[in-house]
Amino acid sequence: MDSIALQNLRQALQRRWGDRLRVDEPMAEHTSYRIGGPADLYIVAESVDELTQMVELAAAHDVPLFVLGRGTNVLVADAGIRGLVIELRAERVRYFTRDGEAMLWAEAGANLRDIARESVARGLAGLEWAVGIPGSVGGAVVGNAGAFGGYMSDIVRRLTILEASGAREISAAEAGFGYRVSRFKGASSSGGRKEIILAAEMVLRPESKAALEERVAEYTRRREERQPKEPSAGSVFKRTEQYPAGFLIDQAGLKGTRRGQAMISPKHGNFIINLGGARAADVKALIELAQETVWREFGERLELEIELIGEWS
Ligand SMILES: Cc1cc2nc3c(=O)[nH]c(=O)nc-3n(C[C@H](O)[C@H](O)[C@H](O)COP(=O)(O)OP(=O)(O)OC[C@H]3O[C@@H](n4cnc5c(N)ncnc54)[C@H](O)[C@@H]3O)c2cc1C
Repeated sequence: MDSIALQNLRQALQRRWGDRLRVDEPMAEHTSYRIGGPADLYIVAESVDELTQMVELAAAHDVPLFVLGRGTNVLVADAGIRGLVIELRAERVRYFTRDGEAMLWAEAGANLRDIARESVARGLAGLEWAVGIPGSVGGAVVGNAGAFGGYMSDIVRRLTILEASGAREISAAEAGFGYRVSRFKGASSSGGRKEIILAAEMVLRPESKAALEERVAEYTRRREERQPKEPSAGSVFKRTEQYPAGFLIDQAGLKGTRRGQAMISPKHGNFIINLGGARAADVKALIELAQETVWREFGERLELEIELIGEWS
């Protein structure tokens, strides 16, 4: 990347936001994996307005941009990220009714778990599967997050997105939702984000609070039973057409395999955990080992659910 462009952007961001701009910020401090080298420039956008200004500045200086939610579904390279990383923290939320329907509008930086809990507390069904999922609404839309049979795509009606020409609304049908995918996924790792999610409008259904709380308790119990407590980014691979990835990895005898401080969790084969101080390269080596072994043993291709971000050699 052109280092003069980066210096000019740095000065422009500093003029506007002072020491809120961080230089060479370790991404390990901003990811659930606690892994990842430095971002050249890093800044938190507290509002959509701030985000828009930051995006415009990055574009004007021709510096690549990466938008981060809560960093719970990414593995950032040890060499870090070239360009500007913006963590989106615009998190306004509004509940309302329209044509007799219970609606929830949330900015993309809103915490998914918080709105799931709040919806349950209000006796509104549709998000109770998300109480155990960390991350932001924007990140959940990108990966069409889901659990226990529920998906973001079940409830999202409309999205507000920011593209080069400005903000506009799109319908859920235009979002390209599929299993752990949307039209937004992978855009940042494949050379520059074209669209940023600003907000999502969701439709919920009234249901008894007691029934919702019961479901939440059951989901929480099942999650605690199955999921490791060590830092991770959740499930590493998507399920294949026939099998859960964790089952294949378990059958391949890989649970407990270690590379450096990274390990395929002995508790759940689809979680690669950070035992403390793991490098991204260690996690990547285990990813490749799992893919090669499962392909060789069972002829099944394991496709990544998490995104590999930044400068990989
Ligand atoms: C312990 C644990 C359990 C998990 N369990 C589940 C589960 O049950 N089901 C599930 O689906 N996931 C699960 N996950 C994965 C993760 O929590 C979800 O995918 C979450 O929705 C990611 O949100 P995020 O804000 O952290 O996204 P990030 O990791 O910050 O970003 C992910 C991608 O989305 C992009 N992005 C983020 N915000 C925006 C935006 N506003 N506009 C455009 N692009 C954006 C980023 O550029 C990146 O490409 C789990 C993770 C952990 C650590």
